[in-house]
Amino acid sequence: MADGTKYTAKPGDHVNVSEAHAQTIQKSWYGKSGVMSGGQRLSFGTRKGRYCEPCRRLWNAWNDTCPRCGGETIDENEVSG
Ligand SMILES: [Zn+2]
Repeated sequence: MADGTKYTAKPGDHVNVSEAHAQTIQKSWYGKSGVMSGGQRLSFGTRKGRYCEPCRRLWNAWNDTCPRCGGETIDENEVSG
């Protein structure tokens, strides 16, 4: 970041980016490099999802419970079949 702030990300963690920084990124970095165009997505290492078996639906990594049915989700990697 221009103000010297650095973000570090370990695989599996999600990064907290402040709203101001997010806007800065969108205005300068993304737009200039064009990495957000062409269907590419910014990725911080490995991001695992959470799976709800009753709903058969994959949620975000931070959804420990299913937003739809409220049931407990399981690690994406633990999904069998
Ligand atoms: Zn569910």
